[in-house]
Amino acid sequence: MHVGILGGGQLARMMAEAGGPLGLRFSFLDPAADACAGELGSLHVGPWDDAEAGRALAACDRITCDFENVPAAVLAELAGKTTVRPPPAAFAAGQDRLREKELLQRLDIPVAPVAAVSSRPELLAAVEQIGLPAVLKTRRLGYDGKGQEVLTSNEDLEPAWQRLGDRELILEGWIDFDHEFALTAVRAADGEIRFYPLSRTVHRNGVLRLAAVMVDPPAVLQQAAKAALTRLLEALDYVGCLTLEMFATAAGLIANEFAPRPHNSAHWTIEGAVTSQFENHLRAVCDLPLGSTRPRGVSLMFNWLGALPDRSAWLRVPGLAWHDYHKQPRPGRKVGHATVVGEHIEGLHQSLERIRPLLDADTMRLLADSGLEAGA
Ligand code: AMP
Repeated sequence: MHVGILGGGQLARMMAEAGGPLGLRFSFLDPAADACAGELGSLHVGPWDDAEAGRALAACDRITCDFENVPAAVLAELAGKTTVRPPPAAFAAGQDRLREKELLQRLDIPVAPVAAVSSRPELLAAVEQIGLPAVLKTRRLGYDGKGQEVLTSNEDLEPAWQRLGDRELILEGWIDFDHEFALTAVRAADGEIRFYPLSRTVHRNGVLRLAAVMVDPPAVLQQAAKAALTRLLEALDYVGCLTLEMFATAAGLIANEFAPRPHNSAHWTIEGAVTSQFENHLRAVCDLPLGSTRPRGVSLMFNWLGALPDRSAWLRVPGLAWHDYHKQPRPGRKVGHATVVGEHIEGLHQSLERIRPLLDADTMRLLADSGLEAGA
């Protein structure tokens, strides 16, 4: 079976790594000639609506995405010619933060207070309604904290408007969360849903830096997250992996956003679950039986941003798995990750003793925020 992937970044690369053993072949479309998945299949370089690449992809048995901002019209056109999964409607909803929040609200999934902003008077009215602190975000094409301004006082309004005001925006109330977490599930075309364990996520400046399997999460939180994600998957008649990112607050969960593709918060599933999110995404997309989402222990993943740290120091940590995405270093760019899996929390703590001397002060603080260290 031949799978076409829109986007040739690290998610496409890891899908191809997972799909090869299943007998799948891959083609990618990416605007960048050095897209890192290109080594693992045939890469078409061009814009998303490239006519020739479109014809080549339409000949694939399945189309899926590694990038959620592929224009919905491109997906809709391909869907008329071959099987596109997840469904284009999931992308259309996820690409616009306002539509995304409205969909979550309709499904009774709690979200932050939100208002559309497209002019200075609307910004003032939204601040009046929602209060400060708040976050001004672009409705479209925002990811990894890009296109966001935190507003803490009235003095922040004009500079933020100067930076973002040329686009359609939303103002979102600031959530005073206890921690952030994410839930990934895979849904098959026949409606079967399997959940991975909750991942605790630690962000800085809007970018995911650490993800860890949550050990004994409160049952109420887990149930609420599963129920919310089930409603979302069913409403979208979704096929593939989907991740819902959430805030845990004293009043329960508040959903932030969803990603209609494999997600960074579940990269640990490659070594830390019986079947990885990448393999299960492809199994669902290709109508193959779903694999077990059972964790193999307690996993922790570090994201490498900008450049990879010294590989030979990290590889001394027993059982550590290294993922170099084969991308050129660039400030802030996701270039790789490392995962460590402990059979039990005690085993993970032993690995952390080996890892701690390798961490800079910034990453030490991330680890302290991961919730894994209590009792270490
Ligand atoms: P987003 O691009 O919406 O996923 O936001 C990236 C990160 O910014 C989140 O994971 C949070 O760490 C932070 N963030 C975004 N929106 C809010 C909010 N309304 N309240 C508090 N933190 C937020």
